[in-house]
Amino acid sequence: MAEKLDTKGITVKKADDMPQWYGQVIIKAELADYSPVRGTMIIRPYGYAIWQKIMDYFNTILKDLGVENAYFPLFIPENFFHKEAEHAEGFSPEVAWVENKDEDSQERLAIRPTSETIMYDSYARWIRSHRDLPLRMNQWCNVVRWEVKDVKLFLRSREFLWQEGHCVYETEEECDRETMMYLEEYATLLEDVLAVPVVRGKKSEKEKFAGAKYTTTIEAFMPDGKFLQCGTSHNLGQGFAKAFGINYVGKDEKEHLPWQNSWGFSTRLVGALVMQHGDDRGLVLPPRIAPIQIAIVPILFEKSKKDTLRACSQLKKKLSKYEVTIDDREEYSAGWKFNQWEMKGVPLRIEIGPKDIEKDQVVIVRRDTSKKYFVKNEELKEKVEELLEDIQNHLFDKAHEHLKKSIVEVESWDEFLAAVDDRKIIYAPFCGAKDCEDQIKDKTKGANSRCFPLEQKETSKKCVYCGSDARLYAYFGKNY
Ligand SMILES: [Zn+2]
Repeated sequence: MAEKLDTKGITVKKADDMPQWYGQVIIKAELADYSPVRGTMIIRPYGYAIWQKIMDYFNTILKDLGVENAYFPLFIPENFFHKEAEHAEGFSPEVAWVENKDEDSQERLAIRPTSETIMYDSYARWIRSHRDLPLRMNQWCNVVRWEVKDVKLFLRSREFLWQEGHCVYETEEECDRETMMYLEEYATLLEDVLAVPVVRGKKSEKEKFAGAKYTTTIEAFMPDGKFLQCGTSHNLGQGFAKAFGINYVGKDEKEHLPWQNSWGFSTRLVGALVMQHGDDRGLVLPPRIAPIQIAIVPILFEKSKKDTLRACSQLKKKLSKYEVTIDDREEYSAGWKFNQWEMKGVPLRIEIGPKDIEKDQVVIVRRDTSKKYFVKNEELKEKVEELLEDIQNHLFDKAHEHLKKSIVEVESWDEFLAAVDDRKIIYAPFCGAKDCEDQIKDKTKGANSRCFPLEQKETSKKCVYCGSDARLYAYFGKNY
């Protein structure tokens, strides 16, 4: 017999043991579960509903930007991987291979860790002239990175879901501009929808995508003092075009190499939401991403049951522009239901019983502050709108305050080490060299450069670790 899941309340405090707390919230809020296959996870309907909302939001953005969705195969012929040398080297430890060979070519097949190579093979055939450009395509799919051994639900797993956008342009300027544009769309998704503040920047040579000219990133900062990379946008330059034979005839009738970018975010965003906003009673969801925004819990008595349930349906109708659920299950007590909707992070709970009906009012409780409001029916719509807006802003402001307060500028290596111990965001002049960064990571047991922030103050200072010239400041910290 399988062991049944423990669905009772959370037994550790977020501040005491964040990893334990995180695991319990994901399981008990029914977002995801562990799977019998090592390194993989199961996304349950409530977790998938959040992902679905992220997809819905982003598909609208993609449509506006002229990006079309498509789907490419899960399997990639081995020789595709060897066409772009840096890319092949960067991904080789992560690739899972299929035991059966391709019957035609007798070649080994990889399970995609990312789709640049399989897509660009087709792009080489589809793109002929400048009239075919820009080409903007995206796919929603799963990818596999075999090196991951121990699953951290939504944060690290061998298989995960993501979107990957792949565009081709005539000019470098256009490619640069749109690489930054997609990054900015990611930042908007995180900040305006998920209420997770981010820093935007460029990755160091060590941390950039294998085969890219440069990689840009958005990084969130979690309450336990670790960064979480939430999305990246890469300018691929012309390296892949050269390797895959993508070229076009320009207006000048001559053949040219195009410029390319690729950009992606994954189901990891669900993990960011949980860690950023959750509390000791469970999940706390920002209204704009919550699959259920309002849970109505009727206070049922035998005598008044019919009237109460009727009042609930009227309420739901009145609030039809929101995602509303009526929890009319009779086998559970009202108190049990309150706990459950709190665990699931539903932004507003509305309680309604016979006494409220008499007074023509409802009781509204907000999830983020637990504050209770007695609201007359005639003021209900305005109040609900105001509270949802307020919760969204409050969650962002709280997280933003923490991020801002965590940044410390350091001048010396001693200050750097102290800031690593304090789990701060370290802002320091950095040379950007790979060996320097390897040593920093080694000496701090895991802190690395997260990005060179986009907004820079020019500096003539020396690198905080090696003392050579540092033109730019970088953010450092440990990360998930
Ligand atoms: Zn250095």
